[in-house]
Amino acid sequence: MRVHIISDIEGVAGIVKWAQTGGDQTLYHEGRKLYTEEINAAVRGAKAAGAKEIVVVDCHGAGGDYTFNSLLPAELDPDCEFVVQNEWTEYTEFLEEGCDAALFVGMHAMAGTPDGVLSHTVSSQAWQNLRFNGTLVGETGINAALCGHWGCPVLLVTGDRAVCREGRTLLGEGLTTVEVKVGLGRFSARNIPAVRAREMIEAGAKRALKDLKAVQPYDPGRPCEIEIEFTSPDRLEEYRNRKNVEVTGPRLIVARGDDWWQAWSSFYF
Ligand SMILES: [Zn+2]
Repeated sequence: MRVHIISDIEGVAGIVKWAQTGGDQTLYHEGRKLYTEEINAAVRGAKAAGAKEIVVVDCHGAGGDYTFNSLLPAELDPDCEFVVQNEWTEYTEFLEEGCDAALFVGMHAMAGTPDGVLSHTVSSQAWQNLRFNGTLVGETGINAALCGHWGCPVLLVTGDRAVCREGRTLLGEGLTTVEVKVGLGRFSARNIPAVRAREMIEAGAKRALKDLKAVQPYDPGRPCEIEIEFTSPDRLEEYRNRKNVEVTGPRLIVARGDDWWQAWSSFYF
């Protein structure tokens, strides 16, 4: 069994402030340790379920050379391999080769979710709403669409209560979720301590991989229209002249394709 672990840092237990997610400061370096250990927990769970090849890809834009490079290589479980990508969603090789399941660890809810800890969609400053064929999605939806394009189902989402709910709403009740904190607001939460959170993630990963058919690969629909609503008109400017982008309002653009990947890759990169 080949398992892809796609991860972010904002959904890790104990992480509730931006300073824990980047900026090369003490809190970030503590956050990286918490993050890496949650990945290790998912790797252990996948191994226990029979995974023979496990590839982890960090999807967190921490800033500078830490972007997509927050995991601590010396502390990662030796039974996985990890990818440092340069652009978000650019790494597709493992999916293209054929992957049995994806596990999403440390996820956060979409922008505008009241109880979503550190909630945002792609850019906490610039993006307000993202829709795939009219359905509001967050980063769980983007990564699920990426996996789904190559036929890979997402079987686990871990993070706060809000992203677990978001995941089940999008992907169905067959999705296993592990709730490691409950948001009290965007920058506050009731957390499960790291040691117990890791045990829960390990058990959740193992349980999720018992039934590879529990969730269908996610497909937003064909053809596919991606709409992005920015927070303000100036935020739209850098996208205005990208190929395949149509400006449809002062803060709105759409990109279209025969399928989701064609629409996404034609404007995002
Ligand atoms: Zn992130």
